[in-house]
Amino acid sequence: LKLTVAEIPVPVAYGPAFEGERVRRDDVYLECGGGKTPCCELVQIADMNTIEDGRVEVIGPDIKDVKPGSRLPLAVTVQIGGRKMQEDYEPILERQIHHLVNYAQGLMHIGQRDIAWYRISKQAVDKGFTLEHIGKILHAKFHQDFGAIFDKCQVKIYTDEAKVNEIIPKAQAAYRVRDERIEGMTDEGTETYYSCTLCQSFAPTHVCVISPERTGLCGAYNWLDCKASFEINPTGPNQPVQKGETLDETLGNWKGVNDFVYKASRQSISSYNFYSLVFDPMTTCGCCECIAAVLPLCNGIMTVNRDYTGMTPTGMKFTTLAGVIGGGNVTPGFVGHSKFNVTQRKFVSGDGGIHRLVWMPKILKEEIRDRLEKRGQDIGIPNFVDMIATEENGVTEEEILAFLEKMGHPAVTMDPILG
Ligand code: SF4
Ligand code: ZN
Repeated sequence: LKLTVAEIPVPVAYGPAFEGERVRRDDVYLECGGGKTPCCELVQIADMNTIEDGRVEVIGPDIKDVKPGSRLPLAVTVQIGGRKMQEDYEPILERQIHHLVNYAQGLMHIGQRDIAWYRISKQAVDKGFTLEHIGKILHAKFHQDFGAIFDKCQVKIYTDEAKVNEIIPKAQAAYRVRDERIEGMTDEGTETYYSCTLCQSFAPTHVCVISPERTGLCGAYNWLDCKASFEINPTGPNQPVQKGETLDETLGNWKGVNDFVYKASRQSISSYNFYSLVFDPMTTCGCCECIAAVLPLCNGIMTVNRDYTGMTPTGMKFTTLAGVIGGGNVTPGFVGHSKFNVTQRKFVSGDGGIHRLVWMPKILKEEIRDRLEKRGQDIGIPNFVDMIATEENGVTEEEILAFLEKMGHPAVTMDPILG
């Protein structure tokens, strides 16, 4: 039953050389996601008998049906079946979509899950590229790279708006289940963390080290995902990292981790802290779901998610922040993180923890509200979620501070955040 796919059946050049290529606004034929239209990606296990290997369906308008410069909603869903396939492997395959799509000349892909962003260039369309080819790429490359763990793969690509809007909540529910599998594990109880270097093609010095309480900043990889990825591919981008000697328990600094990061970052990063954004935070790459930053006047921090396009109290929008800190360096005062990480127990615990969180966009707050409420209870401030300002309360530090004082936010009376 094993299939081998010799080459990638697309009308454009294909390979890692095209991974970092951008598609500029004027060259765009079709754009999907990126906050402009609803978009998601979902890889799920399915019953072998319901899958036809290699089948790619486009449900809704394809490129031939739209004019240059168009936008469409998009849901890329992949069904995988096979005796060795496990649910645990879904996120690993899903996270590959990012670089596999980028390998096609004239295609740009940023992000993942429900914040994915596709741009297909006019040049690619001239050569005959259609949406179906995205499915052909995934089918061929999944077989090539992960053929050992599954037998059949089919792809359904939706651009029909009603369908996409139906799929997105289902995808979000699947992401939530994956995220929450990690609950109950602690960093203290784990001697082995995992690395992820998947993003080095864009940010050569960037190394995520993923602990149970610090999921990858793209939101797509938690500790269990990395463990599964290492099992599938022992020489791949997710390697076990022994924590080794604890150098700073509060900031989250371990000798074994530093040694690993030093090597994996080509000798450019010698140490970083898991639990601080004030002092030598982890490196950040361009695909982070959120960026946290210190707000000195408010004695706290804010965080902003990629899907929020408005102004933040740092005076910068998400895109500007990502441009400044997303290149794989350590940038004190700023750190990329996942949405899920906001409500993990160790979130910026070295700087005072979630008690410091004074501002976030309303869409993010609503998205993670249930978990924020639970965290509020855990820290003995049941109405904590209501104390966090949003753009409705202000986008300047002065406005926010007034709100914090009125609400009795804990950050106001904490030790100075910048020491
Ligand atoms: Fe891996 Fe980190 Fe990139 Fe996510 S952001 S793919 S965890 S290196
Ligand atoms: Zn990245």
